[in-house]
Amino acid sequence: MTVISRVSPELLAILAQLIAFKTVSRDSNLELIDWIQTYLKQYGVSSRLTYDSTGKKANLFATVGEGKKPGIILSGHTDVVPVDGQEWHTDPFTAVINGDRLYARGAADMKTYIAAALHAIPQYIAADRDQALHLAFSYDEEVGCLGVRSLIRDLDEIGLQPAACIVGEPTLMRPVIAHKGTHRFRCCVRGKEAHSSYTTQGVNAIEYASKIVVYIRELADRLALQEARDDSYTVPYSTLQTGLIRGGLATNIVPKDCDFQFEARTLPDMKADILFEEIQEYARKLIPEMVAVEPLARIDFEWLASAPGLQMQESDAIVQLAAQLSGNAPDGAVSYGTEAGLFQQAGIPTVICGPGSIEQAHSPNEYVELAQVAQCERFMQRLCDS
Ligand SMILES: [Zn+2]
Repeated sequence: MTVISRVSPELLAILAQLIAFKTVSRDSNLELIDWIQTYLKQYGVSSRLTYDSTGKKANLFATVGEGKKPGIILSGHTDVVPVDGQEWHTDPFTAVINGDRLYARGAADMKTYIAAALHAIPQYIAADRDQALHLAFSYDEEVGCLGVRSLIRDLDEIGLQPAACIVGEPTLMRPVIAHKGTHRFRCCVRGKEAHSSYTTQGVNAIEYASKIVVYIRELADRLALQEARDDSYTVPYSTLQTGLIRGGLATNIVPKDCDFQFEARTLPDMKADILFEEIQEYARKLIPEMVAVEPLARIDFEWLASAPGLQMQESDAIVQLAAQLSGNAPDGAVSYGTEAGLFQQAGIPTVICGPGSIEQAHSPNEYVELAQVAQCERFMQRLCDS
């Protein structure tokens, strides 16, 4: 039997439809959300939408089995990363099956999981279980897990406390129980412009920014040496790095402005605010020297985005269930961040388990093995029957 014959054509049709909506994070996802709403409606399932401030993006939350006791959330993000500048051999927004793989943006990260969840809805209804099943599809995950926050707030407001959550990020269908926290910051250094032959009359923003960048690196080196290691991670300690910097106009001008962004990837026990405070404290020490030349000189920090880490135990019921449904043993920790930490923070036990590999996510010619699609379909089937 070929692999494709093990995947139901209805599931593939849903997946192809989801892929055709160009839900790059910067663009609207409303057409996709509207399609899902209509799909659910034909099974009598209504959904709640929570919008972003522009009204162009929405989260969808639906309960299959309204009135029954709260059950498991199947959670996924609807947005995908851009394809700009990437070399694709096929149209990224058309599902193309070639051999044992299905190629498209979002094939692994993470429209296959959403398609499999939607495909399972009629089966779940037919099974008439005493627990409800919930769907939580968010926007803007790829730019800092932004959408899911309002979705979780909304659940709190309507007084719904789901039993557990399965986030379908690509893990090759292995239950993942931990990941680091991700925190992104910006620093803006304002100095004073001057002719470069009179450096003493200027405040060189690039130089002061560089001092802070170096300090961040030193702090990272210290963590690498001193922090208690967690060997379930590829990099077994918290890390810091500067990833973007901008400043200056010309070589012969003392630069007035420089800003840069840095991020922290923290082990579950490391508090990002402690690291952030230490960096700001160092920056404060630079101020007197700067204002001695220019009273308006300053250094500002901004905490841009934050997604908490995930830390579950293998013995937790939802982890055991995901292992049972997938037929795979729990697989420890992953290095990338997901929405799972936010669900756990809201008191909802959460595990990550989804089709495809993170290695293909965000890359050109992203694909999912059809065997993975089949595994995910079986996972959902067992969830309906379990
Ligand atoms: Zn993802």
